[in-house]
Amino acid sequence: MKQNLTVLGSTGSIGVNTLDVVARHPDRFEVFALSAASRVDLMLEQCRQFSPQFAVMAQPQAAQELSDKLAQAGLATRVLASADALERIASDERVQVVMAAIVGAAGLPACLAAARAGKRLLLANKEALVVGGEVFLRAVREGGARLLPIDSEHSAIFQSLPEDPATWADRVEKIILTASGGPFRARDPATLSEVKPEQACKHPNWVMGRKISVDSATMMNKALEVIEARYLFGMTPEQIEVVIHPQSIIHSLVQYRDTSVVAQLGTPDMRVPIAYGLSWPERVASGAQALDFRALPTMTFEAPDARRFPGLQLAWEVLAGPTGSTAVLNAANEVAVQAFLDGRIRFDQIHQVNRATLDAWSAPQVDELAGLLAIDEQARERALALVRKMGPG
Ligand code: NAD
Ligand code: MG
Repeated sequence: MKQNLTVLGSTGSIGVNTLDVVARHPDRFEVFALSAASRVDLMLEQCRQFSPQFAVMAQPQAAQELSDKLAQAGLATRVLASADALERIASDERVQVVMAAIVGAAGLPACLAAARAGKRLLLANKEALVVGGEVFLRAVREGGARLLPIDSEHSAIFQSLPEDPATWADRVEKIILTASGGPFRARDPATLSEVKPEQACKHPNWVMGRKISVDSATMMNKALEVIEARYLFGMTPEQIEVVIHPQSIIHSLVQYRDTSVVAQLGTPDMRVPIAYGLSWPERVASGAQALDFRALPTMTFEAPDARRFPGLQLAWEVLAGPTGSTAVLNAANEVAVQAFLDGRIRFDQIHQVNRATLDAWSAPQVDELAGLLAIDEQARERALALVRKMGPG
């Protein structure tokens, strides 16, 4: 039987790649609903191609425009505009699979709705898990949902771990996340204050949304991924290690008690983890190019330089703190990255905002959604105040 799919964030980099994989398997998947923030024309195109029952636009003006254009084109997709529209398309009883590909904590409520409704939840939206932490995991358990990682590193780890999670604690020594090092891996750290948004968004191996591209340049993306790995795989923070591997061929590794290392390799193409999440435990065509080992470049590895990437260490710091700390770090970073992209602060000030927001406030222990959302909001206000004080970079 075909599976009904909701794609949250369908006009983004992950959303577009997801629909590319889905289009290869019309016998397996039916698109039930799509959602985006503001890109009306791409959404209209997706509605034409996939005929979803519902489309949601976060911006009210965009929703109206889409509605008009769908009517003009004679398409039957209905635009939902209610405040809880994302939660509705994530938890609708006709849906089996939800791709969570919104960027930032904005995606958390819809992820929780899908988790509580027991969906197969494909998680690209790492910020939702970094903010939600144990609350997110509890919703998955209680709703009987199946959480599958889409982040390439976490998909690699998932593919390298034994099938039965009950065996992980006994057998696994540590998890090694690979990182490309981003566009500034070899740049003199003293010149990082000069880099412009366009340079930070030019990733050497992956084409991605602007927020995650800046996070890759600061390696805050890897910090978020350390936190994500801690929650997804139940390891202690000390069992998680990061190594720079600029070629992005090995997507991450698991080291076992006997020192054996199992890894997942492939070309850097997000359609591979997406296809695995969609078809798990089966395997289906992803559209990616296979590796040619006879033509492979040399694979190299190096330790991350703490002067160039001071944000990476914050992951272990917040994981050692009260549960709200990961939400504070994420909120500060979202504000700082946006401020950098808008030209309001310098690249090196992203870390200063994150550091100062964490230093000024010890977040409480929280174990429900309302508390986490309140922390998220407060941390944003504090980070924004710091941005204003810093002034234009
Ligand atoms: P993107 O900016 O390209 O796309 C984001 C999508 O979310 C768009 O469809 C946008 O319309 C929608 N959106 C943004 N803000 C929203 C809001 N407030 N409410 C509703 N919808 C909103 O981002 P991306 O690169 O596709 O990344 C999406 C998520 O996947 C991020 O959490 C990112 O860290 C993660 N991820 C991305 C990649 C990648 O290769 N792009 C790899 C691993 C993980
Ligand atoms: Mg990743």
